[in-house]
Parts: sequence; structure tokens; C-alpha cells
Amino acid sequence: MDIISSLSDLRAARLSFEGTVGLVPTMGYLHEGHLSLVSRARAENEHVIVTIFVNPTQFGANEDLSKYPRDLDRDLSLLRPLGVDVVWTPSAEMMYPPGYQTWVEVEALTHPLEGSMRPGHFKGVTTIVAKLFNATQPHKAYFGQKDAQQVAVIRRMVVDLNFPLEVIVCPTQREADGLAMSSRNKYLNEAERKAATVLFRALRAAKELYEAGERDAEILRIKMKEVLEMEPLAKMQYVSCADYDSLEELDVLKGRALLSMAVFLGKTRLIDNFVLG
Ligand code: AMP
Repeated sequence: MDIISSLSDLRAARLSFEGTVGLVPTMGYLHEGHLSLVSRARAENEHVIVTIFVNPTQFGANEDLSKYPRDLDRDLSLLRPLGVDVVWTPSAEMMYPPGYQTWVEVEALTHPLEGSMRPGHFKGVTTIVAKLFNATQPHKAYFGQKDAQQVAVIRRMVVDLNFPLEVIVCPTQREADGLAMSSRNKYLNEAERKAATVLFRALRAAKELYEAGERDAEILRIKMKEVLEMEPLAKMQYVSCADYDSLEELDVLKGRALLSMAVFLGKTRLIDNFVLG
């Protein structure tokens, strides 16, 4: 496993690869969710590149950039057994040198949900992902369903900008009690960690209604709110029942739908989602 920081070394490594290349972009502090993407990439490609980069441009001014958890040695020891060819760890100065002024923006899809709560977030995401695609030239790129809107936005960007690659979406990995794995779970104290299962419980309650035949989106949103309100440590930011592709709020569920939410546990903001249909 080569650990590379410069762009020129990365390009040289990429040029030496014959056969298909799978890319797994991450911000590090890896957990089983990330590793499931790496394993899938390993199974489907001759070469695997993992990037570890805490991308400053996707964090808002009041967000957790400076305290985002980092542990490169731990990340590398988790990746070594998985047969990764290259781990690329570029610096922020290299990705955004002085004078930097080029951005990639997806429009309507970035307006609701996370986009409405985190202005500028997706502009940072699409810009860095486009840069990672250009640098690593993958055949397939692996993303988690955990970040459902990110997946929708990146898929749109790949189509709109004619990136010659396939986006592979991998299922959300969860703790035994249902909490979606996330690097940010580290911020939770013991009481918040227990309460954090409320996201999963709210999604599950709405899904149960759906499976019993309910197709009124507002009833599913109300069910999720009710479950969240029963947890005193949880503060809902939004709940949504939207069309899976357009992310527009639904009145009535017909095709595939996305149940999603953002919830604060203390100062920690968690997101989760289920796909229906
Ligand atoms: P991050 O390091 O948080 O930017 O995540 C890197 C990639 O891992 C993204 O594509 C995420 O959607 C994905 N990911 C994060 N958490 C999970 C999870 N619990 N299950 C599956 N994929 C995940």
C-alpha cells in the first residue's frame, strides 16, 4: 500500500495501473461504513485508490472543521489488510493553493435538505469530488447511501459534466442498535450516544407505516417527528419524505422515496435516511 501526498506521485502511480481503478473518497477517521466501500471497490476493480482529505470548503463557518476527528495512523492500519493500492492524502494548501477560484456547482438538487441547512456545503463537495475524479481517473467511484443527497448530487454532476465513470452507491452500515456509523458519533457523550438511536427508530416507525400501506407523505413526516419529540436529548432540524431522484417533498408516495432527517444530539448534528420502494 503506497501512501502518497503529492499530486505528481499520485499521477505516476495512476499511470502505472493497468485495468480498472476504483476510488473511495473519504475524510478519514475511518469506520466500518468506509471499509465496506473499500471492500466493494477491492472486489470490483484491479486497483483501489482511497483518498483521505478533510475538505475545508464543505464546512460552514460555524461547523466542526477544526475539531473534525483525524487519526491517519489508525486509518492506514485499518486499510492495510484490505488490499488498497494507494492512499492519497493531499494537503489543503495543495488542493486550494493561493489564487484558487474554480468551483463546480449543481443547482436545484442542492437547494433542499442538507443544502438548505448548510449553505455552500455541496459546492465544496462537488468541487473536491470533481478534483479527486480528475486526479485519480477512476472507472468506478464508491459512495455511501448514508449521505443520500450527496449521492444524488454527485450522480447529477457525473452525468452533467460527462465524467467517464460509474457511481456505485453502497448501503449504510449501522451499529448493532441501528445508529448509522459516522465519524461524528465520536462527539457523542454516553447519554447522547444512547439517545442517538432515535433517528433509526423514527425512520423505522415511518417505514412500518409505509409497509402497512400508508402512502400519505405528511403522515410519514408526522410519525418521524413524533418519535423524535419523545427523545428529550434530540432536537430535530428537519424531517423529509421526498422523491428519491428530485429530492422534492412529496404529497403522495408513488415510486422510490427518500425518508431523511437531521437531528442535533447536544452539539452534534447527525443525519440518516431510509429509501422506500
Ligand atoms: P466521509 O468520510 O464522512 O466523507 O465519508 C466517506 C464516504 O463514506 C461517503 O461516501 C459516505 O457516504 C460513506 N459513509 C459514511 N458513513 C457510512 C456508513 N455508515 N455506511 C456506508 N457508507 C458510509
